[in-house]
Amino acid sequence: MNTISTGDKAYFCPTCGSSAIEASTLVGGAASCSSCQWSGLTTDLVVHVFKHDLGTSDDVVKAFAQEFKGLIGKHMATPLAALLHKWGFFVSNPPKSEELTRYAVAMAKASIIAILEVRREMEKERVRDGN
Ligand SMILES: [Zn+2]
Repeated sequence: MNTISTGDKAYFCPTCGSSAIEASTLVGGAASCSSCQWSGLTTDLVVHVFKHDLGTSDDVVKAFAQEFKGLIGKHMATPLAALLHKWGFFVSNPPKSEELTRYAVAMAKASIIAILEVRREMEKERVRDGN
C-alpha cells in the first residue's frame, strides 16, 4: 500500500481553545470563534501542525464518508431495503438495487452532515460549560 504522509494544520481559538473557527483565507484576515465571543486576526489563532497519512483534510472527510458508506452497505442494506419497501419508497416493482443505492448514499451524506453538526455543538457546549 502506498502511504502518503502529509503535514496539516489545525487552528484553535486563542481564548477558549475551540476548533469552531470562522476565518478568512487571507493571511492576517479576520477570524472569530463560534464557541465563545472571541474575534481577531487569523494570525492570533493557535496553530497546531500535525502529521497523518490520510492526505489533505478533504481526503480525511472522504475517507470518513467512504468508511461510513461501507458501514451502511454492510450492516444496514437489508433492513433498510425492507423498511423502504414497507413504506412504499421504491418506484420500481420489484425494487431496483439502484434505488436502494441512491437512498443509502443520500442517507450517508445526511448522516455525515449531522455528525459534523453534532460534533460542532459538542465543542460549543464544552467551551460554555468550561470543560
Ligand atoms: Zn473561543
